[in-house]
Amino acid sequence: MKKRLIVGNWKMNGSLAANRALLEALRSGLDSLRCAVAVCVPAPYLAQTSQLLSGSDMAWGAQDVSAHEAGAYTGEVSAAMLKEFGVRYCIVGHSERRQYHSEADGLVAAKAQRALELGITPIVCVGETLAERDAGRTEATVTRQLAAVIEENAPRTADIVVAYEPVWAIGTGQTATPQQAQHVHALLRAQLGAAGGDAAQIAILYGGSMNAGNAAELLAQPDIDGGLIGGASLRAPDFLKIIAAAL
Ligand code: PEP
Repeated sequence: MKKRLIVGNWKMNGSLAANRALLEALRSGLDSLRCAVAVCVPAPYLAQTSQLLSGSDMAWGAQDVSAHEAGAYTGEVSAAMLKEFGVRYCIVGHSERRQYHSEADGLVAAKAQRALELGITPIVCVGETLAERDAGRTEATVTRQLAAVIEENAPRTADIVVAYEPVWAIGTGQTATPQQAQHVHALLRAQLGAAGGDAAQIAILYGGSMNAGNAAELLAQPDIDGGLIGGASLRAPDFLKIIAAAL
């Protein structure tokens, strides 16, 4: 059985002092990890995070990566730069990037490719808006988003992590029911299987207001392999409870 994976997405939060307190609390709260755990931090904090987590069982990651290798792309951070800071994971296609930075499926696929080239595992986010769900377009939306990444990265699909994050559930306190989430996860796993990979080995995370109270029920679903956690990952006691629910 593959290990479960719990990933914190700090979004644009943190400070040197707050990060230290949070990471030290996580390190001391975790004994030996039976599930994989990572935190995806803002790029300026990667150096600090790598120092504070080195020698621990926790991994760290970034929240975005440039689709370009290097050059005149002001403000962008390349996969090679992330690699220098020991990054293991990189979120790509988070709905906040799709929404506020107009990231289209093709760009997300290219970002996943850059990460894979450098041996960084892309956490590919897919998810429908409330309007899409209400219009009965949930399945069409998430499969379209994932198809772009599969097409661009076909031989390496087994090396990605997928995160199903219904947009209406992110940061809203409104979580998908375990049944709603399981339905989409099973669909995504079937799509990965049809693309030729060993879909059973690909981690599909749920994200969207996952918290200490609802994690166990979501993680009990057969196709939910872990979580991508925003708000609750900023509070050590809550994040530790979610990790405990995944063991
Ligand atoms: C996220 O940002 O990926 C997320 C799931 O946020 P939250 O847990 O706060 O809904």
